[in-house]
Amino acid sequence: MLSTMQDVPLLISRILTHGSTIHGKSQVTTWTGEAEPRRRSFAEIGGRAAQLAHALRELGVEDGQATATLMWNNAEHVEAYLAIPSMGAVLHTLNLRLPAEQLIWIVNHAADRVIIVNGSLLPLLAPLLPHLPTVEHLVVSGPGDRSLLDDIDGAGPQVHEYEELLAGRPTSYDWPELDERTAAAMCYTSGTTGDPKGVVYSHRSVYLHSMQVNMAESMALTDKDTTLVVVPQFHVNAWGLPHATFMTGVDMLMPDRFLQPAPLAEMIEREKPTHAAAVPTIWQGLLAEVTARPRDLSSMVRVTIGGAACPPSLMEAYDKLGVRLCHAWGMTETSPLGTMANPPAGLTAEEEWPYRVTQGRFPAGVEARLVGPGGEILPWDNESAGELEVRGTWIAGAYYGGAGGEDFRPADKFSEDGWLKTGDVGVISADGFLTLTDRAKDVIKSGGEWISSVDLENALMAHPEVAEAAVVAVPDEKWGERPLATVVLKPGATADYAALKDFLSRSVAKWQLPERWTIVESVPKTSVGKFDKKVIRKQYADGELD
Ligand code: ADP
Repeated sequence: MLSTMQDVPLLISRILTHGSTIHGKSQVTTWTGEAEPRRRSFAEIGGRAAQLAHALRELGVEDGQATATLMWNNAEHVEAYLAIPSMGAVLHTLNLRLPAEQLIWIVNHAADRVIIVNGSLLPLLAPLLPHLPTVEHLVVSGPGDRSLLDDIDGAGPQVHEYEELLAGRPTSYDWPELDERTAAAMCYTSGTTGDPKGVVYSHRSVYLHSMQVNMAESMALTDKDTTLVVVPQFHVNAWGLPHATFMTGVDMLMPDRFLQPAPLAEMIEREKPTHAAAVPTIWQGLLAEVTARPRDLSSMVRVTIGGAACPPSLMEAYDKLGVRLCHAWGMTETSPLGTMANPPAGLTAEEEWPYRVTQGRFPAGVEARLVGPGGEILPWDNESAGELEVRGTWIAGAYYGGAGGEDFRPADKFSEDGWLKTGDVGVISADGFLTLTDRAKDVIKSGGEWISSVDLENALMAHPEVAEAAVVAVPDEKWGERPLATVVLKPGATADYAALKDFLSRSVAKWQLPERWTIVESVPKTSVGKFDKKVIRKQYADGELD
């Protein structure tokens, strides 16, 4: 028997219509670096999204067509986020920090015909254009040197000004009633191993994921909140925030290209966001900034931190500033919300702590299992360590095959019964809290035992003179692999290797202590601000012996 319920498809156009009417007064504030930021209401954004959709149709964007953005976090990017999927095309966010050859590969693979680009990113895009034969139109938004496009020859894309393209068009659009499984957005993993892989989200997955983001057990966002969206819109849909905010009328504060610690501190003090989201390196940088030049961050009562392990010492430091970091785990393939570390009810601050430092608890939409080396399913006893596999309504079931290609499911990424193999290793407690010890490829295998690089990093970053620490495996004749620690010291620090090792020996078994060390100016980072262990392994393979 089927239900008697209405079958209304879960569409992004519904989120757009809801947000721009019921929450029409909510705002997107974009930092400009000038005296006043740019403020735009959800109602205005709704009208402009309709104008953009009309314009893109006129440029020939068809249903199912990948339509790219190469943009910072700003109001125009939100317009693209809502307009492109709502009209039936597919939003393709390009990661502006990727190396040129990867960007070229990705644009060609997705066969993007239109790129909406911020003017300030033209120096990055212009040299790539001769290698992007599918791109027919560039739509340029915001300040930047247009003369960089002067050399485009007759075969190159046509150039349009974003504001001119929108001007005078109708501010409503008859959004099509799509199948909710239709592709809405796509994001490529950063390709640290092999070619980048495209994940294609559906309207349904985005809709359900957005509801979860807002739930009290996740980011708990309502129309009383302002969220500072530091996580880039090209990094897994800014963790779902642009859609989730339109569902509940949350104001958005967008940093545009002003992502350095000083302007971030200034925008927090001036605009007083209640929530923010970013990877740990951003919060490390901001902490160093406000330690040197104190600022009031206390409006930010909740911060979502994820994308890489959050060192407990960082959480403690922010607790002292009245800012509560909440740890989350996710991947491009998981939309990304996989877990969030909100402790169970009824605990004291002390009792909450062991829960807060885990990666968090799985929400109803995400099923999880741990798989041991022989393929056996492991118990949730907080001790049995294995690879995490997940499935759910916003978890990828395959990668995009490209125009005309078949979607594919590599055996190292998907189990035979369709679960996503995350490549992350950890334990799960009986009440569903996940603790990750490492990525499978980052675990240090020393003499048949495993050393968690994350444990060593967390222990090192608790040292008062250490700003950042990344630990990688390096080959070792006797043990197979041994840990190498790369450490960034705080200004004025005097600690040497011996002192650091001594400090580490208080919390780490002796056989796990690194004997290779390097003090560095900064730890190499990936395109989304995580420690780049591949580069560290290559650059510092030898380290110095202590
Ligand atoms: P990339 O592979 O480019 O880093 P993703 O952003 O999809 O792309 O990264 C997902 C991975 O990031 C996860 O598989 C996991 O290894 C790591 N990660 C994400 N959140 C956390 C977290 N809270 N703690 C530890 N690792 C995390």
